[in-house]
Amino acid sequence: MKVTFPHMGNMNLSIKSLFNNLGLDVIEPPPITKRTLDLGVKYSPEFACLPLKINIGNYIEALELGADTIIMGGGIGPCRFGYYAEVQKEILNDLGYDYEMIVLEPFQSRWENFIKQFKFIFKHVEWWKFISAWRLAWAKCEVIDKANEYVNQMRAYAIEPQSVTKLYKEFLRKLERTEDKRELYSLVIGLKDKILDLDLDMKRDPLKIGIVGEIYVVLEPFTNLNLEEKLGEMGVIVDRSIYLSDWVSEHLFSNASNTAKHHKIEEAAEPYLEHFVGGHGLETIGQTILYDEKGYDGVIQLAPFTCMPEIVAQSILPEISKERNLPVLSLVLDEHTGDAGFITRLEAFVDLLARKRRDQVGGQVI
Ligand code: SF4
Repeated sequence: MKVTFPHMGNMNLSIKSLFNNLGLDVIEPPPITKRTLDLGVKYSPEFACLPLKINIGNYIEALELGADTIIMGGGIGPCRFGYYAEVQKEILNDLGYDYEMIVLEPFQSRWENFIKQFKFIFKHVEWWKFISAWRLAWAKCEVIDKANEYVNQMRAYAIEPQSVTKLYKEFLRKLERTEDKRELYSLVIGLKDKILDLDLDMKRDPLKIGIVGEIYVVLEPFTNLNLEEKLGEMGVIVDRSIYLSDWVSEHLFSNASNTAKHHKIEEAAEPYLEHFVGGHGLETIGQTILYDEKGYDGVIQLAPFTCMPEIVAQSILPEISKERNLPVLSLVLDEHTGDAGFITRLEAFVDLLARKRRDQVGGQVI
């Protein structure tokens, strides 16, 4: 069995570590490129959402390299994610590929579901081995998110923000090769030390932007055209509302809608949206309000074209923006999104935030 999986941000580093340590033969899809996107666009229905198209591209490229088993997450709720796997199977079957697709349905804190699904895939693996592989993969996931959070803040203080990105990429390369949990934590400390050794201007008071939206496009830099890096290079502190480790721990270890964090988001969203609309639509609303309460200068919503939950959220955001005097930029992403127009919109938004801050405090910003 040669397994593969779709890309989503840095998720590949944890998944590969888990599968490799469970003794599976892993064929990682090549990094997402224009070819991946073109393949996905060519073979997917035109109105399918962008993540589905990129998944298709990932699968085709991995199957071409010899993968024969695709492992992917299932979903529930009113949006199309629940149908993803079925649609993807149809597409790949029509193309004549010979493969198995294993869909891991959300466990929703039911450990019997978790065990049932994992037993099916990893029937040959002893439990102790599974636990140790899981712990390492989970630690990688958490450490990557912590490092990313730090990097997103520190780019704004660096005289050369690109040097922070360079150190972060070097950190990810080392993390990929690390098989020891303690070493992972030293890697983060090492990254922080190296960043603090860079030429920094800690007297700056950078603008702060919160990123909300659909999880795939928030996490996957290929689809959001490296938004975090771009904003950092414009001297902005970026905070992401979703991290992979949060998502996994909420969906896996506890019921996603029943955590203190989620209650807070729901409470914040309630005056505008009272119920789940699929995907992260409700979180987009709640987190936007929480960013305003935390004093952020603005919020950027990322949404794949035709994403139903984010369309619902997008229709509410102008009201929130007006009532709270909080600038919100909605960026809808698809295969036609190009770098030039994207950068222009970002620059204009950052400019607007800078002017707003200047008008409020009469000081100089960034
Ligand atoms: S949340 Fe949006 S992009 Fe994601 S599967 Fe649902 S409709 Fe598609």
